[in-house]
Amino acid sequence: MGILIDLKDKSWMEDSDLKQIISSDLPGVSITCGEPKKILKDVIMAIGIKDFDKNILKKLPNLRLIQKVGAGVENMLSNSNMPKHIKICRMSSEMQAKEMAEYCLAEVLAYQRNIREYFNNQSLKMWKQRQPLIVKDKSVSILGLGLIGMEIAQILQNFGFTVFGWSRTVKPQLNFKNYSGINGLIAVVSKADYVISVLPETNETKNLLSLSILRKFKPGSVLINVGRGSVINEEGLIKVLSEGILGGATLDVFQQEPLPKEHPFWTHPKIVITPHVSGWNVEDAIETIPLNYYRLIKNEPLLFEIDQKRGY
Ligand code: NDP
Repeated sequence: MGILIDLKDKSWMEDSDLKQIISSDLPGVSITCGEPKKILKDVIMAIGIKDFDKNILKKLPNLRLIQKVGAGVENMLSNSNMPKHIKICRMSSEMQAKEMAEYCLAEVLAYQRNIREYFNNQSLKMWKQRQPLIVKDKSVSILGLGLIGMEIAQILQNFGFTVFGWSRTVKPQLNFKNYSGINGLIAVVSKADYVISVLPETNETKNLLSLSILRKFKPGSVLINVGRGSVINEEGLIKVLSEGILGGATLDVFQQEPLPKEHPFWTHPKIVITPHVSGWNVEDAIETIPLNYYRLIKNEPLLFEIDQKRGY
């Protein structure tokens, strides 16, 4: 039995490099790299970052598990060529969660201290002082309280911000107020100075931040999106920014990536863009691959298996 590695993303890692990392934990297991040229009957597990198309899937007749490198699996779930019996697992990396929490803290502090305004003023040789905003007076609502959302909540809470949370299920054990449901969503977006979305893309979360929800945000607040672009109604976002309801937005994820050159977000004075880089490193989670391979052949419960109905 064997494994296929076909990452299709050299900027993250070469297939052969990943093979080298995992092969010592998989002695005797045949590991093939790259798009298969012929039918590979021995492959039961395929590792990828992007989706696997029809031609690849046809060459893997005994495939039982797709192991995603990274967290978001929406492309794999929406792939109509994917046979339903194939399980999908994702990775859950603490290293990446910490990186994303750092990104959110850095962005929140950039707004708190007007960092970008001073950067722009420098090019104009303009000396203009602004009073810094006070951390203890500010609140942050986090949409999505999974591994990443919880890491973001912790770093901001430790820094002195008041934190609120929102997720599909309420979590009474947490030391900050958290909510669920549409009324809970309205409650958290309407009282926070910063709203951070780290939601996965599912049928329920698509267009969740619609124009009518965006209009419920606290006046002057800032939206930071590190989850998935489809959660936000992009036209609605531009509208509420021009209406002055939102003071700004930092976006790391978009409905279409790379963001097309003609997209109005690029030149919007109140939008900060980063190219899907808030979380990158997942080395600590690579051990999921050999662990899931052995669980698969022993028919044991897999690590971080996606609930395909729920969509995450
Ligand atoms: P988890 O699966 O651990 O957590 C997902 C969270 O979203 C849970 O709290 C879940 O609620 C909540 N949720 C899901 N659906 C709904 C819904 N319909 N309504 C309310 N809450 C909902 O995921 P992670 O924290 O690991 O990752 C989150 C997402 O971040 C990924 O799916 C990926 O899309 C994105 N990501 C982005 C990266 C980047 O570089 N920008 C890097 C890595 C991930 P509950 O707790 O009740 O189940």
